[in-house]
Amino acid sequence: MTSPRFISVDPLFGTFVDTTGAPEQIADGYVWTEGPVWLDGQLFFNDIPNKRMMRWSEATGAQVALENSEFANGNTLDLSGRMVSCEHGGRRVIRRHDPTDPGAVDVIAGHFEGRRLNSPNDVVVCSDGSVWFTDPPYGINSDIEGYPAQSEIGGCYVYCAAPDGTLHAVATDFDKPNGLAFSPDESRLYVADSGAIKGASFPGIDYDLPHHIRVFDVDGLTLSNGRVFAVIAPGVPDGFRVDHEGFVWTSALDGVHCLSPEGALIGKIRLPQQTSNLCFGGTDGQTMFITSSDRVYRVHTTRRDAAHVLAGRKGKQL
Ligand code: MG
Repeated sequence: MTSPRFISVDPLFGTFVDTTGAPEQIADGYVWTEGPVWLDGQLFFNDIPNKRMMRWSEATGAQVALENSEFANGNTLDLSGRMVSCEHGGRRVIRRHDPTDPGAVDVIAGHFEGRRLNSPNDVVVCSDGSVWFTDPPYGINSDIEGYPAQSEIGGCYVYCAAPDGTLHAVATDFDKPNGLAFSPDESRLYVADSGAIKGASFPGIDYDLPHHIRVFDVDGLTLSNGRVFAVIAPGVPDGFRVDHEGFVWTSALDGVHCLSPEGALIGKIRLPQQTSNLCFGGTDGQTMFITSSDRVYRVHTTRRDAAHVLAGRKGKQL
C-alpha cells in the first residue's frame, strides 16, 4: 500500500522509491537547511541563517563542520571531489580544500566585469571543469541569509566560470535563477526560476511571477533554445537534481516532485514543510538526502545522480 507520504502519478515511481514507507527524518533543529552534498562518507549541508555548515553520518549523527560558513548555500563537488560552495556573505563561489577549514578555499568567482556578484545560490560542475552557478539576490535583500546591500550588477544572471578562469553571463533574462543541473549527457542545462518568492523569509508566493524550471541546449559556453520545462506548484522550485536516466527531482512547497525527461509529473515525496534541495549519496549512491526547512530527511531510491554517472565515465573521483 502506498504511504500518504508518496504520491505515484506514474507506476514508474514505485520502481524509483519504496512508496510503502515514509521519508526518514535524520536531523532537525535548524532554521533553513540547504546545500546537501555527499562527500567522504558524510552528508554535508548548510544551515544558512545560522551561518554554519553541518555534517552527518550514520555513526555520528549531525555535528557542526564549520562554525562560520558566511551564509553558504548550494554545494556540489568538482572533478577532484572537492566541495564547491556558493557563499552569500562573501558574495562568491569558492572551492573548499577542507570543508572544516574556512581559510582553505580558492575563489572561483566573485566579480563580473568588475562588479561584485549578488549572492551565488546554487552551483554545478560540468565534466569539462567549468563551474555553472546562479546569482539571485536572496543573500543581499535581507539580513536573514546574508548582509543587506544593493546589487552592483543590477540583474540576476546565470554564470559559467570557464576552466581558463574567465566568467561568462550565459543567461540574463531570469527573475531569480536558483537550482541548476545538467542532463545526463550534458547536452541540456536545467535552471529553476524562483521569482514567485520575494525573499529568504518566505513572506508569500506570487504565482504571477516565475515558479518554473527552464531548459536550454548547451553548446560549449553558450545556452540556446530556452523554454519552460515544467511549472512547479505549490511553491517554487529551489534546488534539484537530475538522475542517471534524466528524471528531474525538484524541491517544492510540498516536498520533492519527480518529473520525466519530458517534464511530466511522475510522483511526489510529500513533506510537511517547504523543501529547499536534495542530493543523491550514501554508501550506495542511491540514497536521497532532502533539506526541508528546519530538518533533513533521507529516502532510499533506485536512482543515482547523473553527474556521478557521467563523472564515472570521465574518471571523476566521486
Ligand atoms: Mg537555492
